[in-house]
Amino acid sequence: MEEKIKIGFYALTSCYGCQLQLAMMDELLQLISNAEIVCWYMLDGKSLEDEPVDIAFIEGSVSTEEEVELVKKIRENAKIVVAVGSCAVQGGVQSWEQDKNLEDLWKTVYGDGKVKFQPKMAEPVSKYIKVDYNIYGCPPEKRDFLYALGTFLVGSWPEDIDYPVCLECRLNGNPCVLLERGEPCLGPITRAGCDARCPAYGIACIGCRGAIDYDVAWFDSLARVFREKGLTREEILERMRIFNAHNPKLEEMVEKIFGGESQ
Ligand code: SF4
Ligand code: SF4
Ligand code: SF4
Repeated sequence: MEEKIKIGFYALTSCYGCQLQLAMMDELLQLISNAEIVCWYMLDGKSLEDEPVDIAFIEGSVSTEEEVELVKKIRENAKIVVAVGSCAVQGGVQSWEQDKNLEDLWKTVYGDGKVKFQPKMAEPVSKYIKVDYNIYGCPPEKRDFLYALGTFLVGSWPEDIDYPVCLECRLNGNPCVLLERGEPCLGPITRAGCDARCPAYGIACIGCRGAIDYDVAWFDSLARVFREKGLTREEILERMRIFNAHNPKLEEMVEKIFGGESQ
């Protein structure tokens, strides 16, 4: 009998929304017949985190010292490591205040509350281990996950998306909230794949799928539009930090958009 592909789902610090999204997919049952789920606490409390797996899916940001050790262990035991969702890929919204002091943040939220773990500032999984593939979004789209898992299960490798949300938005014929209402939509510099979900409801994109590669976004036209609409460098930078606080090119990118001119 053919050996099944072993899969593990692991959760770090997160809202568990990505896992929930995956657990609720009927389509998963069809794919999973070719696989064995070795670890997934949300579905089975007796899951073993130490078992070797072919594919490890990791949700959440690395936000405790214990999680640093956990991701290293997962990497040692897995042939392929996939970061799932904005928390795992970019560090999530919990990385927004990177420039603040952990103790001050802790006191603001928990006061003098004590915990059994050693907290640290939230960081993406790739900060500590090699990640082989990213599934973007907060939470990711079902089809992204099914595409990645299905492709791995047939022994191939999924492609990455290298075009911005604007492309899908234009194809869907949504009114542009940036051009028509002057709202700070990050669609031009955010990785597509969500079918322009937010602009489809008249809401400006906040970049949950992460900034698209620096050299493919449309900086020149974007700079002109942002300026025309009276949006400042600080406004755009602050908005991009929500989901891109760890992007090493963030400031450079915003600098390029605004051409180094003071606003
Ligand atoms: S990426 Fe979003 S949905 Fe997924 S765990 Fe993080 S906050 Fe929750
Ligand atoms: S609404 Fe946003 S995503 Fe859509 S075209 Fe305008 S800028 Fe791009
Ligand atoms: S439009 Fe932007 S914020 Fe909304 S789901 Fe897509 S990438 Fe995320």
